[in-house]
Amino acid sequence: MPNIQIKTYQEYEEAYKRSIDDPEGFWSDIASTFTWRKKWNTTLEWNFEEPNIKWFKGGRLNITENCLDRHLKTRGNKLALIWEPNDPKERFVRYTYRELHEKVCQFANVLKKNGVKKGDRVCIYMPMIPELAFATLACARIGAIHSVIFAGFSAVAMSDRINDAQASIVLTSDGLNRGAKQIPVKRVVDEALEKCPSVNKVIVVERLGWAVNMVEGRDVWYHDEVQGVSKDCPAEEMDSEDMLFILYTSGSTGKPKGVVHTCGGYMVYAQYTFSNVFQVQENDIYWCTADIGWITGHTYLLYGPLLSGSTSLMFEGVPSYPDMGRFWQVVDKFGVNIFYTAPTAIRSLMGGDIDDVLSYSLDSLKVLGSVGEPINEEAWHWYHTHVGKERCPLVDTWWQTETGGIMISTIAGITPMKPSHAALPLPGIQPILVDTEGNEITENEVEGHLCMKFPWPGIIRTTYGDHERCRLSYFSTYKGLYFTGDGAKRDKDGLYRIIGRVDDVINVSGHRFGTAEIEDAINHNDHVVESAVVGYPHDVKGQGIYAFVICKEVPEREDYLRAEIIETVVEKIGKIAKPDKIQIVSGLPKTRSGKIMRRILRKVAEGDTSNLGDTSTLLDPDVVDEIKAGAL
Ligand code: ATP
Ligand code: MG
Repeated sequence: MPNIQIKTYQEYEEAYKRSIDDPEGFWSDIASTFTWRKKWNTTLEWNFEEPNIKWFKGGRLNITENCLDRHLKTRGNKLALIWEPNDPKERFVRYTYRELHEKVCQFANVLKKNGVKKGDRVCIYMPMIPELAFATLACARIGAIHSVIFAGFSAVAMSDRINDAQASIVLTSDGLNRGAKQIPVKRVVDEALEKCPSVNKVIVVERLGWAVNMVEGRDVWYHDEVQGVSKDCPAEEMDSEDMLFILYTSGSTGKPKGVVHTCGGYMVYAQYTFSNVFQVQENDIYWCTADIGWITGHTYLLYGPLLSGSTSLMFEGVPSYPDMGRFWQVVDKFGVNIFYTAPTAIRSLMGGDIDDVLSYSLDSLKVLGSVGEPINEEAWHWYHTHVGKERCPLVDTWWQTETGGIMISTIAGITPMKPSHAALPLPGIQPILVDTEGNEITENEVEGHLCMKFPWPGIIRTTYGDHERCRLSYFSTYKGLYFTGDGAKRDKDGLYRIIGRVDDVINVSGHRFGTAEIEDAINHNDHVVESAVVGYPHDVKGQGIYAFVICKEVPEREDYLRAEIIETVVEKIGKIAKPDKIQIVSGLPKTRSGKIMRRILRKVAEGDTSNLGDTSTLLDPDVVDEIKAGAL
C-alpha cells in the first residue's frame, strides 16, 4: 500500500493542516506516488467563477496503467476482482491482477476493432457482471469516455443520456438476473436506440443465453468479436485533464446532468480517499455493494480499490435473494473485511428477521461504511450493533457524483464517529456553512448551506456539452464557492451532520426542519420500517408536515399508530415538528439508487398530481398510483 495512509489522529491533524496551508505541495506529494508518463507542470490552476479547474496540468498518464500494469510485478497473482453471481448455486469467479489486465486489454482491442477511438463516448448498459468492469476499464485504456448507465433505467432514460453524450456505441448484455427475476436488457436497448441516431454499433455480452434480436450491421456478440484478439493493448497516453468519464446524476432533483471527471485528479482523489477512509490493508477483502452504474461503484468498487492494489468484490444480486441473509452469507463466504453499503439497504434488512443476521458469524468484518443518504440513528445502531458487533468503526461517508470521491467522513478508527454524522472533512476539503445570503456561519450547532471554499482533485470539471449549466448549478448560488445543494449542521465539536438537500427543508411557523431529522424521529417507532416527509402549503403554519410511512405489518388501528408516531416525534424533536398528516403506504417512490424522490411526494401532498414530471428513473412506478389514491 502506498505510504499515503494516515495512521493516527495526530497524523490526520497534520495532514489536514498542511492540505490547507500548502494544498499544492500536499496533493503533489500524493500524486507523486502514481505512475505518470510525464510529470505535470502546474499542480493547480483554478477559479470558481467560470469555473475553470485544472489539476496536475501538463501531466500525462493512463489510469489503467495505475490500476493494473503497475501492480503486475508485485501483485500479479493477487486477486483483483471476485465476482459473486445472483444465484448462490452458481459458481463465483475470481480474477488476479494479471488476469484482469488481460481481460481489459482484450476488451479494449475489441473496442478498437469496432472503430472506437480516443475521445469517443461509449455508453455501457450492462448488469453487474465481470464484463461491466472490463468494459469500463477498456474504455479508459484506449482513451474513450465511458458513460455507464445503470442497467435498470428505462429506455427513455437511456436514450436521453445517450443523446446528451452523443455516444457512438453501446455495450450491453442479452439480459440480466435480479433476484428471482430475469430481465431482457437488450430489448430495452433496442427500444432506446430507436431515438438515438448517433449510435452505430452495439456489442452484446451473453449472460442469460437468450435469443435476442441482432440488428444486421449494427449488433455483434462479444464472444464472437473476442475470438483471436490479443491480450495485450498498450495504454493510450492521456492528458491529466482529458475526460475520463461522464456520469449522469440519479435525477432525484430533475433533468439528469452529465457530470464530467478527468483522468489525473480523479485518479489521485479516488485512491487517496479509498485508502484512508476505510483504512485498507494489503490483504483485505473489500466489498462495496453499489452498482458500477453509480458514482459509488465507479470510485469505490472499481477505481479506488484497483488503484490501491486491493481485492474488490462485485455482487450481481440483491440483498433479499434468495433470502434476507444474502449479504451476510456472502460476507462469511469470502471473509469480507470491509463492507460498504447504503442506508436504504440497511433499512430494508432491518425489516426482516433478526436471525437473518445473527445466524452468520461476520467475524471477518473490520470496517463498515454507509453512503447515499443520511443514515437515521436507528439504522445506524442496528448496523453497528448487529453487523459490526459494536467492534467495527462505521464510516458515514458524505459525497456526491460531482465530488468524485468522499468529502466528509470518519476515517475508520482514527477520527471521531457519531451516529448520523459524517463527522470531519478529509484532508484537502474545506467545507463552509453559509446562510441564505451567503454569509459564513462560524458558530456551531447552527444549520447552514454546505459549500466548499477550495477545489480538491476530484471536483466536477463541467457538465457534458453545457458548461454554463455546471456554473449555474454549482458555482453561481454563492459567489466564489462550490454549492453542494445540501444542508448541514456542525455540532459543538465541529462534526458535520448532513441534513439533506436544502430543497427538502420544511419551514413550520418559522422553524426550519430537515426532512431527515423528522424521518429519523418517525423511524424510532417500532412499527415503522421507513418514512418520508415533505412540506405542503398550510394556511397557519406556512408549511405543514406530511408523512408517508411504511409499516412492518398493516396496523390494526391506524389512528392508534398515527397517535403513537406523533408521540415519538414530539418526544424526539418537539411539538412543533409533529406531522399534520400521516399516510400509511406500502412503498415509497424511489430512484433506482434507492433514494426517495421527494418531488413526487411533494406534489401528492400539495394535492397536485396532474404533472409529476419525469418518473422514468423510478424503481417501481406503481407505488405512485397507490400513493395518489390514498392521499389525505
Ligand atoms: P441528483 O443530483 O440528480 O438529484 P443525487 O444527488 O441523488 O441526484 P448523487 O450524487 O448520487 O445523486 O448523491 C449525492 C447526494 O446524496 C448528496 O448531495 C446528499 O444529498 C446525499 N448523500 C450522499 N451521501 C450521504 C451521506 N453519507 N449522508 C447524507 N447524505 C448523503
Ligand atoms: Mg445531487
